[in-house]
Amino acid sequence: MKLYHLSSGPLRVNTYFLVDETTREAVCIDGGENYRLIKKTERDNGFTVKHLLLTHAHFDHAGNAAALQKDGAIVYASAQEAAKLKNGGTLAENFGRAFTPLTVDAILKDGDVLDLVGVKIEVMLTAGHTDGSLTFKTGDMLFTGDTLFLESVGRTDFPTGDRDALIRSVQKLFALSGDYKVYPGHEEFTTLSHERKYNFFSDVDI
Ligand SMILES: [Zn+2]
Repeated sequence: MKLYHLSSGPLRVNTYFLVDETTREAVCIDGGENYRLIKKTERDNGFTVKHLLLTHAHFDHAGNAAALQKDGAIVYASAQEAAKLKNGGTLAENFGRAFTPLTVDAILKDGDVLDLVGVKIEVMLTAGHTDGSLTFKTGDMLFTGDTLFLESVGRTDFPTGDRDALIRSVQKLFALSGDYKVYPGHEEFTTLSHERKYNFFSDVDI
């Protein structure tokens, strides 16, 4: 498996691709908003997105999900986020962005283990930024969406945000044994050991 990354849009959202180097099939984590950029990335690197995993429903992460689904990608999200993707709650309206609603193909819950393009991916519910935010864990990598950032954490002032839940989720990540590379939904990559040391939330009491 090879990891590809791109950062796109005014909010510089991070999109990740886990690519099977034999079949050239890919899992995409948070496609972002720009559909044409995903298509160009597929063409330039010779892979095809077969599965789209969404950490949460916010438009900057899920804005092109309907278009990618139309192209054949299977879309996955938690039940809470699936409701937002279908009925509203993506923040698109707040930011004056267009958003095509969609019905996700597969609902994910905490503890699910997916086996996609030869990669085992564990689903962790890390609520707080939104009530259904997910972190995806595979090998020594964590894809944390807007839950955990480099020396920071996600905002909790949007609808369904919950600061106490976010603290619990971040501490749940810190409690994993060993070290992990952390690939967040925005900004720079980090590691769990770095965050255990320097993240403000590592010693906040609930
Ligand atoms: Zn968000």
